[in-house]
Amino acid sequence: MTVTRLSVTEASAHMLAGVKPLGGEDVGLGHAVGRVLAREVTSPVFLPPRDNASMDGFAVHAHDVRDAAAARPARLRVVGTLAAGSLPTRAIEPGEAVRIMTGAYVPPGADSVVRVEDTTSDKDIVSVLDARDAGRNIRMRGEDVREGQVVMRAGTAIAAPHVGVLASVGCGVPHVYRKPRVAILATGDELVLLDRFDEVRAGRRIVSSNSYALAAAVRAAGGEPVPLGIAPDDPMSLADRLREGEGCDLLLTSGGVSVGDFDYTRRVVAELGGTLSLWRVRMRPGAPLGFGTLFGAPWVGLPGNPVSALVTFELFGRPLVRALAGHARPHRRTVQVRLAEALQLGAPLTHFLRVVLEGDVDGIPVARLTGAQSSGMLTSMSAADALLVVPPEPQSVPAGTLLRALPLDGDLGGSDQFLA
Ligand code: AMP
Ligand code: MG
Repeated sequence: MTVTRLSVTEASAHMLAGVKPLGGEDVGLGHAVGRVLAREVTSPVFLPPRDNASMDGFAVHAHDVRDAAAARPARLRVVGTLAAGSLPTRAIEPGEAVRIMTGAYVPPGADSVVRVEDTTSDKDIVSVLDARDAGRNIRMRGEDVREGQVVMRAGTAIAAPHVGVLASVGCGVPHVYRKPRVAILATGDELVLLDRFDEVRAGRRIVSSNSYALAAAVRAAGGEPVPLGIAPDDPMSLADRLREGEGCDLLLTSGGVSVGDFDYTRRVVAELGGTLSLWRVRMRPGAPLGFGTLFGAPWVGLPGNPVSALVTFELFGRPLVRALAGHARPHRRTVQVRLAEALQLGAPLTHFLRVVLEGDVDGIPVARLTGAQSSGMLTSMSAADALLVVPPEPQSVPAGTLLRALPLDGDLGGSDQFLA
């Protein structure tokens, strides 16, 4: 059964229902950023491994410096120096101090590190001029991580700090979810790849910009693009090309999914044994969108218009790629914006308008349209910072209205809800 004309939120929920992360693989830590941990990591060590100094100064007994003041310095005998990386050879006794550097292990007996700024020293005597560091400036063994502790749970999205934590517990090859392999097929007799740009120059063809833009968007979303090139608008060739996507984790087609005389994509998906479970979404741009399964993988039939293809990829394709890659929160977070200019919309659909975000008023960014919003204007997309989300009603929206927008660049962290 094919459901039609769902809202954007309903369509996204429909597409993600039943999508599970792919299997796992081991990757070197140098390639782990952006991936999602598939197996929890426990620490085989305490961090820090021993009590150590958090300041450069003198390791002492607290009771020796508790009454220290500039007028009444505590005078202690300096019995050695400890640098980071060296091991203490003996305990300190009352009345003694050891010169110590940040990160060096404190000797047994010491329970304080007096910062060097609070001391004067002369040969092997140090005078402590302030009591504020009594009992302080020691990082305790295991205060960050204990041996056997789970430091990272499965499902964690790995960013730079996670790489640091994994390295510090010796996990050089984390087990992460596999990158989805995403087949990308453009359709249309009018299209060529860049090797045939001569025909574009001659005015006979246009570049299949979707082939390139979607591959880039798939890669940016954390997938591995598998380019299937261009299928001409005839069912046999389209079927042949699509078959090459068998074995991929997700299939994207662009174009040929509308109601034109040469729009064969839906028919061919069915002939190849696939299903069409959803068609058309109440949005602009991008209304003629298909979704189903083909060769056991999800298939998204994106519209051919370059802006529609990218906007619908952003809304539906990217979350699918991220869900397959193990992200529990596959959607982008939205931000609140203030509309710079009045809008008059032509149809009761959810509109996704290309905007730049300028300055802010009362801490809220101001959203201004990038210019003409025709779905053929690819430059309106490249100029945009964000997609402004305009609900179907009312169709006339005054300047100053507060709306939500989906930032297209900066990563604000994922959301588990659509348009959250
Ligand atoms: P379609 O969805 O096939 O009806 O195509 C809608 C519009 O998008 C037409 O103007 C096509 O020429 C254009 N188009 C379709 N596919 C692509 C593509 N891969 N790259 C650039 N433009 C395309
Ligand atoms: Mg076409």
